[in-house]
Amino acid sequence: MRKYVIMGVQGSGKGTQSTMLCADLDLVHISVGDLFRWHVQNHTKLGAQVRRAMRAGELVGDDLVESVVRGRLDQHDWNFGFVIDGFPRNGRQAEFFMESYDIDGVIHLELPDDEVRRRVLSRRLCPGCGMDYNLIADRPEVEGRCDICGTALITREDDTPEALAARLRDYYEKTRPVLELFRRKEVIHDVYAGTAVEQVQAGIRETLGLPAYNPKS
Ligand SMILES: [Zn+2]
Repeated sequence: MRKYVIMGVQGSGKGTQSTMLCADLDLVHISVGDLFRWHVQNHTKLGAQVRRAMRAGELVGDDLVESVVRGRLDQHDWNFGFVIDGFPRNGRQAEFFMESYDIDGVIHLELPDDEVRRRVLSRRLCPGCGMDYNLIADRPEVEGRCDICGTALITREDDTPEALAARLRDYYEKTRPVLELFRRKEVIHDVYAGTAVEQVQAGIRETLGLPAYNPKS
């Protein structure tokens, strides 16, 4: 059984790295963001609470996040383990989580702020079909146009330098106590996330003592 937490700032590739890690090791990727979307789409009681918080322009509360995660883990479909992303949110949750689930390691993806800015500010969205683009990694074939439906691409409203700076501040403030606690418990594995996707994955596996990435196995 392998149980990991993955942490990292927006744009650090948490989703991609988690998916790769889960692919051949049969781990379950538990993403709080995906869980929220699922609850909202399926009109559950939790989904209604999430929607209410979002409508009021508030961040979804730590307690609500905790119940969503607990509900997911209680399904016990993770026979070989899991990679959890978006939890814990505070020191108390981190302590509780480590003790109750006997976490094997915390992957901390590190990315300098200027690289985060470069990655996030190059994101584009097609308002027609919802396809995501990135001017660094996933450029559209025709500049400024969606490959699928031809609609002019736009920048997300909250992908401005100012909004990003505010999100980064908020992220560091919120995650500092969690990172400090994990560091004290010596479960943190820092991995530099500024290189190619495969190289980051190799770094994660090396520090965790896992077999090399082999999606075909
Ligand atoms: Zn499109």
